[in-house]
Amino acid sequence: MDPVADSIEVIDPSTEQVITRLPAAGVEHADRAVARAKAAFATWRNVTAGDRATILRRVGVAVEEQAVSLAQLESRNVGKPISDALGEVGMVAATFAYYAGSPERLTGKTIPVPGGVNVTFKEPMGVVGLITPWNFPLAIASWGVAPALAAGNTVVLKPAQLTPLTAIELERIALEAGLPEGVFQVLAGPGSLVGERLVEHPDVAKIGFTGSTEVGKRISIRASETIKRVTLELGGKSANIVFADADLEQAAAAAPGAVFGNAGQDCCARSRILVERSAMDDFLGLFSANVAAMKVGDPMDKATEMGPLITAEHRSKVASFMDDDTTVVARGTAPDGPGFWFAPTVVTPNSPGARAVTEEIFGPIACVLPFDGEEEAISIANDTVYGLSGSIWTENGARALRVARALEAGTLSVNSNWSVRVATPYGGFKQSGIGRALGPDALDYYTELKNVYIATG
Ligand code: NDP
Repeated sequence: MDPVADSIEVIDPSTEQVITRLPAAGVEHADRAVARAKAAFATWRNVTAGDRATILRRVGVAVEEQAVSLAQLESRNVGKPISDALGEVGMVAATFAYYAGSPERLTGKTIPVPGGVNVTFKEPMGVVGLITPWNFPLAIASWGVAPALAAGNTVVLKPAQLTPLTAIELERIALEAGLPEGVFQVLAGPGSLVGERLVEHPDVAKIGFTGSTEVGKRISIRASETIKRVTLELGGKSANIVFADADLEQAAAAAPGAVFGNAGQDCCARSRILVERSAMDDFLGLFSANVAAMKVGDPMDKATEMGPLITAEHRSKVASFMDDDTTVVARGTAPDGPGFWFAPTVVTPNSPGARAVTEEIFGPIACVLPFDGEEEAISIANDTVYGLSGSIWTENGARALRVARALEAGTLSVNSNWSVRVATPYGGFKQSGIGRALGPDALDYYTELKNVYIATG
């Protein structure tokens, strides 16, 4: 057996040093994990709602207690600033606490009909396969694991090979919190083997996938062979729309975080900044100064605002967007190597079809575009195959709501760059995905609705 081909080398992207090597799971491991999960489902689905709630609550508490070590691990493996990692781990704890409240509230309806009554139940689906990306490894894992377990399913989670460490820690924490063996398993291995097997496996009832639109499309097709339920959280090309009547200082202060957060490796990144033409010069001046002042460097430094990109290959892909079709109008700084650094960069397009305008960059490049009036802003913002996120900056409340309703995107914010919260639904329109994570609605994607008619004579 070739030890290299069968292992995963986990790298710190800020130093390029190896953090650890793990054995890589393959197809047989996936089959064994699904068999264990199927056996565990027979008992977990019958654990009382109260007991399921207690275990999930304990997982949340344990995550909170171990927040610093989890955040340090996440920061090191993804290269994200420690302050961001701490915030994300806090959200993971909150996600388990939130869904710990749901097993006892997973109620159906009573519907009187002629001759009797109908009763509906939200039943667990069975074995859920979760496939997650490298950019927010623990947070995105928790968005699937917590509601899936709360609803009485068992879970096999395949984290991205690049960043599997915190998911493995979550499995340990869950076992220590009293989750029975087999109810939640983590399998670090290639998507082409473990991911594909989970998608095609006849005993997996549902796939929850977060990642690229390209892989999402493939999963959709493969999952249809067994009519598997599928939730997809995919890419984005979100707009940050700044009207001339907005508080420009506030909008310009929030814009760097909206596009350079997680070094732009964020599906919600507001990477197209649309500015009303009359405010363009003022906004660009303020925004450029803020970009130049960004602290890019050691992820473990509490003052750091942006870390490196995930790999050298990914950095090359991001750099390819700075082509002849764009002009650089502002640039921050970044350390020299080692590490996969890339300075936060602001560009304007030289043509409407520039790749920086149309494609997801997934890196720290913001593309600034002018617009004239509300209608044009909406038209530019919607001119994309994606529909995940976006922001609207204006002091006119009616306009804010009008534009929000007209945008073809699932997760928007007004006068803020942040719209992802544990208690509210998150997901995309169009090619940004199918289904919703978080909030009360996520449970609908981890349950089957059953209707029972009872004749009363
Ligand atoms: P990928 O789609 O390449 O990978 C995501 C996950 O899918 C990884 O675990 C990967 O495994 C696995 N995978 C790869 N190929 C297959 C396959 N054929 N079958 C099953 N699973 C497979 O995305 P990235 O990890 O590169 O993440 C970046 C992309 O994800 C961006 O486009 C971004 O927009 C999107 N994203 C969307 C989010 C959302 O909520 N909408 C959130 C975060 C990211 P491995 O890599 O280990 O081989």
